[in-house]
Amino acid sequence: MVKRFDGREWDEIRKMEAKVGIIPNANGSAMFKFGDTYAIAAVYGPKLAKVPTKYDKAILRVRYNMLTFSVPERKKPAPSRREIELSEVIKRALEPAIFLEEFPGTIIDVYVDIINADAGTRTAGINAASLALADAGIPMKDLVVAVAVGKVGERIVIDLTKEEEDYDSEKLKGTEKEKYIEYYGEGKATDIPVAIIPLTKEFTLIQLDGEIDKEDLEKALKLAQEKSIEIRNVLEKAIKEKYKETKL
Ligand code: ADP
Repeated sequence: MVKRFDGREWDEIRKMEAKVGIIPNANGSAMFKFGDTYAIAAVYGPKLAKVPTKYDKAILRVRYNMLTFSVPERKKPAPSRREIELSEVIKRALEPAIFLEEFPGTIIDVYVDIINADAGTRTAGINAASLALADAGIPMKDLVVAVAVGKVGERIVIDLTKEEEDYDSEKLKGTEKEKYIEYYGEGKATDIPVAIIPLTKEFTLIQLDGEIDKEDLEKALKLAQEKSIEIRNVLEKAIKEKYKETKL
C-alpha cells in the first residue's frame, strides 16, 4: 500500500525530539525537532528596559533566523523579508500564553534559529521557543504548541515535509514518484501552520497558504487540536528530563 512520501500515515507527526537547557549562558533555552526540521531557541530576560517603557507589561521581542547552512543551497545570512515576517508571526503566537503583565518595564528576548529546514520551521520554532520560555521560568497559561496541518492533493495530512508542501500531481506524472498520486490524489498542496494553547484548545496562530474548502479546513484544524496533546507531552517530558538531572 502506498503511503506518504516518507511512509507516514496521514495523521502521523514526524519523529519529535525536544531538549531543555541546551545553552548555559541563556536564561532559558531548548531545541525541538520534527524529523529533519531542527530548531533551537534561547530566551534572555525579563530584563529592565534601558529606556523606560510606557507599557504596563513586558515587551516580547522575537527574532527568527534560518542559518545559512539550514537549506540545501546556502542561504544569504542577512535577515530576509520572510524571516522578519516569521519573527512577528512567532511573537503573536506566543504572546497570548505569557503573563506579560507580571513584568512591567521589562523586555523578554526570544531568539529562534533554524539549524536544518525541511518545512515546518515556524512551528518547530514555536515549540522550541515555548520550551525556552518555560525554562527561563516565565509564567505562562500553558505551553504553546505548534504544528502544520494541510491538504496534499486531496488528502488531509499533518506535519508536511518540504516535498509535500511542493506537491503537484501534474508534475509527478511520468516520473518515478507517480505512484504517490494514488495516495495523495490530484492537485497541489495547502499548508496551514497553527499554534494552540492545549489547556484551552485556543488557537494563537492560523495561517493558510493555498486553497481549501470550509469542511476540509475544519477537519484539518480538528486534527491539529487532537494532536496538540501529543506534542505537549513531548515538551512536558523534556522539561521533566531537565529537572531529573538537577541535583538538589
Ligand atoms: P515553514 O518552514 O514554517 O514551513 P515556509 O513555508 O516559508 O515556512 O518554508 C517552507 C520550507 O521551504 C522551509 O522549511 C525550508 O525547507 C524551505 N525554505 C524556506 N526558505 C528557504 C530559502 N531561502 N532557501 C531554501 N529553502 C527555503
